[in-house]
Amino acid sequence: MSICKRVQQWATFARTWHIYDCTWQNPFDSAKIISKHLMGMNKPIYHPMIVNCLLLSSRSSRVNLCVKRFLLKTVPVYLTQKRNIMGRLGKVDPSSYSQPELITTLHSDLLWQVDFKNTKLIGSVTHKFNVLEKNLPAIILDVRDIKITNAELICDKSHIPLNHFISEPIDDIGAKLTLELPQGTAPGHLLVRIDYETSSAASGLQWLTPEQTLGKTHPYMFSQCQAIHARSILPCQDTPAVKFTYEATVDHPSDLTALMSALIDKRDPGCTTFKQEVPIPAYLLAIAIGKLVSKPLGPQSNVWAEQGIIDECAEEFSQTSEMLKTASDICGPYVWKQYDLLVMPPSFPFGGMENPCLTFVTPTLLAGDKSLADVVAHEIAHSWTGNLVTNKNFEHFWLNEGFTVFVETKIVGRMHSNKERDFHMLRNLTDLQECIRTQLANQPELTKLVVDLSNCGPDDAFSSVPYIKGSTFLRYIEDLLGGPEIFEPFLRQYLQKYAYKSVITDDFKQALYDYFNGTDKKEKLTEIDWDMWLSYEGMPPIIPKFDETLANVSKQLAQLWATKTTSELRDLPGVKQRISSHQLIDFLGKLIECKGIKDLNEQKIELLETVYSLKNTKNAEVRFRLMRLYIMARLLDRLDEIIAFANSNFRMKFCRPIYRDLANWPDARPKAIENFKRVKGQMMAVCSHTIEKDLGLK
Ligand SMILES: [Zn+2]
Repeated sequence: MSICKRVQQWATFARTWHIYDCTWQNPFDSAKIISKHLMGMNKPIYHPMIVNCLLLSSRSSRVNLCVKRFLLKTVPVYLTQKRNIMGRLGKVDPSSYSQPELITTLHSDLLWQVDFKNTKLIGSVTHKFNVLEKNLPAIILDVRDIKITNAELICDKSHIPLNHFISEPIDDIGAKLTLELPQGTAPGHLLVRIDYETSSAASGLQWLTPEQTLGKTHPYMFSQCQAIHARSILPCQDTPAVKFTYEATVDHPSDLTALMSALIDKRDPGCTTFKQEVPIPAYLLAIAIGKLVSKPLGPQSNVWAEQGIIDECAEEFSQTSEMLKTASDICGPYVWKQYDLLVMPPSFPFGGMENPCLTFVTPTLLAGDKSLADVVAHEIAHSWTGNLVTNKNFEHFWLNEGFTVFVETKIVGRMHSNKERDFHMLRNLTDLQECIRTQLANQPELTKLVVDLSNCGPDDAFSSVPYIKGSTFLRYIEDLLGGPEIFEPFLRQYLQKYAYKSVITDDFKQALYDYFNGTDKKEKLTEIDWDMWLSYEGMPPIIPKFDETLANVSKQLAQLWATKTTSELRDLPGVKQRISSHQLIDFLGKLIECKGIKDLNEQKIELLETVYSLKNTKNAEVRFRLMRLYIMARLLDRLDEIIAFANSNFRMKFCRPIYRDLANWPDARPKAIENFKRVKGQMMAVCSHTIEKDLGLK
């Protein structure tokens, strides 16, 4: 083994085991860490300055050493232990190794070749850093399953190779890339180029074969970086505390279209260049490549999709421009120039992803009656809340999502009515109740508005709590201070003050007090019990007074269907009243939440399907709730239909509860697990990882 290889291996070893005080640079010091307590290592480690190797065995409490005698005599026993729980990776962000307090990324230049055959991105990233401290010893970046082939510092005329090491990865989190800087590095700008390739299993990328697409003729690839998957696509400061602009040149098959979360700079056959001039956090980096076409939705907007559904998409999302205009009225000027939608393949794990200039949305929104287009209002709202003013880490995720749902409901209110706005919030609260009762039943600490991610990855903490508890909190504050006329000017000021920045909850609190302290609302602020809202578990401590007109209809229906027998219901005229899609969704959701539904059997389900024409509904929200009722009624004959629904899309909102329900149904559990194992390769990592947990397989 070459000396260079030994140095690298030793340094990786030392860093993996958190041996910070002695590195290969001081061989006699580093020899001191030879500890009889090292556990879990079976491979030989070669110290660069010691000829013999150390064989570290987990089978014995004593380490089998073959080192020079004089070293052994002077070796004190140090306790070192490999991390088996995550701990906080950084000061600013528990989920990122990068050190934004010491260095930040200003701009990234990407050169990518898209290799569909090997399902990899191959290329380089050139980061322009701003070093904040003198004598910074190293740049630390986040990586996950990334192979680095070269790293160099770009100076005026020369390129200086940088020593680089990757630590042992933590499951589902990733690893630390250390780029060692020359001694005496001064604060200021630094240009670093890293050549690398992604793994074919990169958690942030999904590669589809032609058969997995609608058109069945061309492959497709897309990314999903939130929360911490950008690190599987490029070595970067994968923390929302850091924001950077980017440019990208992407080589791809010439018959496919490439899109990114940026403006298209130049499009040549087989090569597209992009520019994002507004600084973004790494999780907003996005790419999609496929056989795509577009249709205009307005002066700033197009919808992109595969040819087979493009007309349907244009029709479903025809209100996009109006939503964008309404959102601007509420939040201020739209800074991203373009607002396009990309309708994704069914394996896209979320309802939507607010990638700037190009929102990704699930095809499960195509209900045929625009009833699920609220998701677009939500993604548009993110253009301000989340993308412009960003949570500094995912413990404060409610600053992204709670604000966004709050603005989303305002858009709904302005475009439809305040009754609809309140109904929207009440429906959300039904969903939140269900989430707290099921998904978070064993993790009540995740029902807090501000969570502790010291030992929990953001994907594992993901739930509707930051969305719904967060927006309820804001609505409570708005009502407390006197309504939208009083609160919206503050909201605009807050968004302006923190635009292009990253914030924590205290920043919001401070801005609120700064704004209202000099006004007659000062006294009102003292009524807010911040601790109760931010740190208590469970449902929101105070539910604002919502208009319940629309919700009462679905509430009464749920009560009727839960308490009456099937034959009683057949003769009841009130059951057959016409209700809206939203009321139907809410009614089914509330029925699922009812305990002890009377006569929950095939006959009752059939009656339900007939009365509300559910059998052939295109509305995925309705279908999802119907499938859950099948499971509650233990309709084994319909298990194939339930599994077919679970396989028709891999949107986590639908798949996870279905799999959780099936896991609790002994007769269906084996088939659910067998099906999951068969299709999990077609899911994105974030989806298969969480379902594995839901099924108790992990
Ligand atoms: Zn959102």
